[in-house]
This record gives sequence, structure tokens and C-alpha cells, in this order.
Amino acid sequence: MGQNEPLNLLMIDGEVETFFSCHRQQVTEGDTFLLSSVLFRNFAGVISDVLQGQPAAVIETEAALRNFYREVNGSDEIMDQPIPVSDFDFNYRQIIKGYDPGPDERGVVSYSWEVLALYGMIVTWLDPREVNGGQLIAKLWLGDADNNYFFKQRCRQFYSCPTVVSKRFTFVHDSPGILPLCWAELLNAINQKDKASICPFCHAVYHFPHTNHRKKTCGSPECKKAYLIRQHGGIDSYRAWEAKRRKDARDKKARPNDLTWRTSELMNE
Ligand SMILES: [Zn+2]
Repeated sequence: MGQNEPLNLLMIDGEVETFFSCHRQQVTEGDTFLLSSVLFRNFAGVISDVLQGQPAAVIETEAALRNFYREVNGSDEIMDQPIPVSDFDFNYRQIIKGYDPGPDERGVVSYSWEVLALYGMIVTWLDPREVNGGQLIAKLWLGDADNNYFFKQRCRQFYSCPTVVSKRFTFVHDSPGILPLCWAELLNAINQKDKASICPFCHAVYHFPHTNHRKKTCGSPECKKAYLIRQHGGIDSYRAWEAKRRKDARDKKARPNDLTWRTSELMNE
């Protein structure tokens, strides 16, 4: 990194994350995993395809990547170099048989493996269900060897400087790129022993409350509904269940008089 190279900054203070884009000259504040959540949201199609055993096409990956940069940096320029995967014995190639992403002169496919590796590592290391359950879900598609390949490479592309915010010790991570800062989010969460996972519907990273390690979605009304629809086996069964639930609630409301009468009758017995 050159001395005068413009740097993007990431700082995490408890559950609040602050990101500074030097291209935009703008600060964004939000929950932790701010950047990774935007990355996964833009890669939702690519991720779903791969999880269903379909190859991630070069065109689709490049569009997802450019949308990610546009959203966080105000420019769709791909500012991070791909991590070369050619001489790496890659698990994913074995998972997806007959994988053919199309011509890829710029090494774009490497980014989709990187996004999947980050996704998988968040699930593997931070999801209490995975950690307690032997990391079964992650292993289904992630494999278990050398998943930290991208992690190690990207962690060499940012610096961490100690600082104090609100009387608390933390780090500011800086990098000329942005993908390395997504990995800095993971590094921070592992250090803090965070309990987090990724919403299967909107792909945002969400945190588990201390008392509930079974949380299945990010908790937004849309994702909760999507979860219930899936649990009921489709929209029609969901609607039938919802109608019955409402009817039962109405019946219950109509019953108190009846109950009062019955109770007084019982007491007189
Ligand atoms: Zn969600």
C-alpha cells in the first residue's frame, strides 16, 4: 500500500459499525456486518444457484459484484483484484459437477467462490446451531478443508489500528479495497464471539438474542412470512393455516361471556 493511497475505513463499536468510503467521501453507519449483508443481498441469485447445484455464470457474478460496489462505494468499478484459485484444489468444483461458468478472462468466478466462502465461514463459525451441531449445514455445501483460503489472503489486505471509542477499546481497519473489509467484519465477529447467521430469505447477516439460539430468519415481517410459507409447504397451505388461525382468534374473542357464564355456573355447583 502506498503512503498516499486513499483508504476505506471500517470501525466496529459494540453492535454499531461505521464504514467510510473514500471514493464517496461518505460515512455509513449500521449494524455489524453492514458490508457483508450488502454483498450477500446482491449475490442472492448467485448464492441460490450454487446452493441448488447450479453453476454461477460469469455474467451474473460480474453484475452482482458491480451492484455491490455501486451500493457501498458509489461506483461500479471492481476495485479489488480477484484471489487466484487456479492452483488451489477447490472444494466447490467437486460439489458442482460439470461446472462451466463460461469464458472468464477477468477471473470473475473467483469472486463468487470468495462470497460463498465468506457466507460459509459466517455460518460455520458464528451460528450457534452449526457450532453445537457439528457444523452440519455448512458442510453440506462448503466442504471442510481450506475454507480459510480467502480469509487469509484478504486479511493481508487491510491494516488494523487500535483506537478507543466511547471509552472502549476497538480497532479501525483500513484498506484501499472494500472486499477485505468484509473479511474484517468476520474477523471482528470471531474475536468478539458473536452469535450470528445469515437469513435464508434476504441474505442479511442477523444476530441471535442471548436467550434464543433458534432464530430462523433476520426477523423482518417479509422474511418471517416467507419462513412460514416454506414451513407450511407453499402459499396455499399457508393461507389456509392463516385463515384458520384468524378464525380461532375470533372465536376465542367471542367466547369470554360464554366462559364467564360457565364459570359462575360451575361455582354454583
Ligand atoms: Zn431476512
